[in-house]
Amino acid sequence: MTQTHVIDGKEFAALLKTKIADQILNYKQNFTPGLATILVGTNPSSQIYIKNKIKTSHDLGIKSYHLDLPATISEIALLAEIKILNEDSNIDGILVQMPLPDHIDANRIINAIDPQKDVDGFHPINAAALYMNQKGLYPCTPTACIYLLKQTLSSLRGLKTLVIGRSMIVGKPLSLMLLHEDATITIAHSQTIDLKTLCLEADIIVAAIGRPHFLRGSWIKPGAVIIDVGINRSLDPDSKKIMGDVCFEEALGRASAITPVPGGVGPMTIAFLMYNTLKAACLRRGYEVPDMF
Ligand code: NAD
Repeated sequence: MTQTHVIDGKEFAALLKTKIADQILNYKQNFTPGLATILVGTNPSSQIYIKNKIKTSHDLGIKSYHLDLPATISEIALLAEIKILNEDSNIDGILVQMPLPDHIDANRIINAIDPQKDVDGFHPINAAALYMNQKGLYPCTPTACIYLLKQTLSSLRGLKTLVIGRSMIVGKPLSLMLLHEDATITIAHSQTIDLKTLCLEADIIVAAIGRPHFLRGSWIKPGAVIIDVGINRSLDPDSKKIMGDVCFEEALGRASAITPVPGGVGPMTIAFLMYNTLKAACLRRGYEVPDMF
């Protein structure tokens, strides 16, 4: 039986946020980073995510600007709001909370954000920068996964790494980042055949599926490192419990390390949003970007 180390994302996030706050203080005489958040509609989960982002901004010394827009807003009116924020020199980062109402084309909104202010790292210019391993703003959740893996393993070089999920937000950008760390990547998705066999071959598994407790303990190679990105409501409608994609209890004693849900990747994602805001501010204003890795 393997002793499983539970990777404490909350603790790493607290350390990272302290470092970011210190750097913001350092630059205080020169500038204060500004983060604009836009919420369209009243989706309860989105409201909680936005509230957390605004609170964390305040805690770290980032100036926050928030726009609450009605679900009925037209795409043209939303684009006009983004244009104003693009042109506002106090604003370093613009975050439009997803998902957007069906009548709005999310890609058109993402493409309208100034790539220099695209703290989510979703704009095609930043996606291309990641693809080419060039300087840019990279998506927060994959960056959080890499950070936690590098804190857990001395090197990712040559390790067989299975990324489950191919979304633009997690799976795809994470696969590129892992490749840049010299890991050997397999990407699995909903059409993958015999996922269990792929899992059993992997030294590292990152699960970004969106299905509670989908990945079973018996699928894990003894000693593998597991990063659980999933944030899912319990299948029991009476339970408010948040669950990962991995059956955590079954992974204990089998994996060498695992991130819990909650308290793993989630807190790190917000910390890296703050880092991206500081990074965007430094890049745009011509200051050195502090290294957090
Ligand atoms: P998504 O729905 O866009 O993508 C899910 C992926 O899972 C798809 O690529 C799909 O092909 C794959 N998939 C679905 N069923 C599968 C199966 N049976 N076998 C293998 N692959 C399968 O979701 P997403 O935005 O990438 O998010 C994934 C999960 O991560 C969700 O639970 C989401 O809430 C969570 N998430 C967490 C954070 C965080 O900060 N921790 C950030 C973003 C997303």
